[in-house]
Amino acid sequence: MNRMLIGWALALLVPTTLALGCSPPRRAELTDGEPANLLLITLDTLRADHLGSYGYPRPTSPALDALAREATRFTDVTCSMPTTLPSHLTILTGLTPRQHGVRRNGELPGGELRSIFHLLREKYGARTASVTAARVLDPKYLVGLGLDEIFFGDDAPAEVRQVPAPEVVRRGLRWLDEQLAGEKAGSEMERPPFALWLHFFDTHEPYDPDPAVARRFTVGYSGSLGPELAVDFLVGLNEPANDRALSAADRRYVVDLYDAEIAEVDAALATLFTELRRRGLWDDLLLVVVADHGQAHGERGFWGHGERLLEPVIRVPLLIKEPGQRAGRVVESPVETLDLLPTLAELFAIERPTGLRGRSLVPALRGEALAPLPYRVVERRFYPNQPERQAVALHAGRWKLVAYREPEGSDYHLGRLAGAGGLDGEDFFTRDAAEARLLAEALADLRHQLPRHSPLAAGDEEMLRSLGYVD
Ligand SMILES: [Zn+2]
Repeated sequence: MNRMLIGWALALLVPTTLALGCSPPRRAELTDGEPANLLLITLDTLRADHLGSYGYPRPTSPALDALAREATRFTDVTCSMPTTLPSHLTILTGLTPRQHGVRRNGELPGGELRSIFHLLREKYGARTASVTAARVLDPKYLVGLGLDEIFFGDDAPAEVRQVPAPEVVRRGLRWLDEQLAGEKAGSEMERPPFALWLHFFDTHEPYDPDPAVARRFTVGYSGSLGPELAVDFLVGLNEPANDRALSAADRRYVVDLYDAEIAEVDAALATLFTELRRRGLWDDLLLVVVADHGQAHGERGFWGHGERLLEPVIRVPLLIKEPGQRAGRVVESPVETLDLLPTLAELFAIERPTGLRGRSLVPALRGEALAPLPYRVVERRFYPNQPERQAVALHAGRWKLVAYREPEGSDYHLGRLAGAGGLDGEDFFTRDAAEARLLAEALADLRHQLPRHSPLAAGDEEMLRSLGYVD
């Protein structure tokens, strides 16, 4: 056990080039032999266990649940870092935060990062675009990712910091219609595919759902909390006194509003899916739905995401619908959002970029077993003013090891996850175990190997604070 843990720790020190389960790329199974179109949907701050298809009893997600019935649904997915920009860059490039070098929000990527958009552009001449919904994914952070066009909401003005789901859908459809109009004018034979990324932010703080939607989830609440919960209020719940001041009904109400926000995004996705079908695009799509991280609602006294590597914070949904797919499939093998880029590369018959640690999930899409994964890694974001602060979570099977290194001292948890999904787990029974200490010693060495970080641009610090990211 000790030796294995040392191995894990050492593996963290150096970006690995493991090519687990690497197999020769093959062409995606497409209905007409043409390259398919890619639609990537990232749902910010969406914990997996609040979707109906992941077992949630409330009607938060009828459109996503219907999609799950004709897609492959991965039940056990962890993100690379529960922080928006680093996690998204992992999804788009297949690189760990340590590899791509962006380990906090507000940091510009140091150079061009080869993303799925580059790969599709180079191989197929794909037209590529993104529509993002929060300034934490402002277009300026996305330059260099191989996107032809980068939109913020439905062309929202500069002072707008986040935009609601319907605006994202509207802008995305408008871009698609522009591509379709171009197709009609051009030759059908030379029709390039498109790759569109839509980002939704509604489930992030603040919680301010449409009152009509909120009423469906808040029935019976008569406490003192209002219809909008501000970022400061929600982040402030991490003060133990504020957390203690909440009644049980208040706690449920906070979750009610979060669920209403999910329902709002889901309704916008229902519109999107209907419109895609109406345009005849549905069956040619490779459709991916994933989240950058989850969200805690008072579990172990923690609210939000980023800081603590709790299960509700790091577990995300992942749905992949292949072109023409009609039957749903469920994959319970543990996977990471790191695996998405190798998967897309194989599906699109693109040579796998070098240096990726993730595995292609294509065998799982075909009902075959995935190569065993020795462990999964989730890291906490980097604090430039306190570089010694570190946190890492390792999952191996049903075991989870979490190490926090803080200015006030270190804390280690080693335990077994309860239940198949682990969402009710974290029932740690060992503290300061010898294995955990060894891992912590290795973590101490990490700070000497941190990549250089550029200072935040003027104005960004205030923007990030308004979204609840405070150092
Ligand atoms: Zn996020």
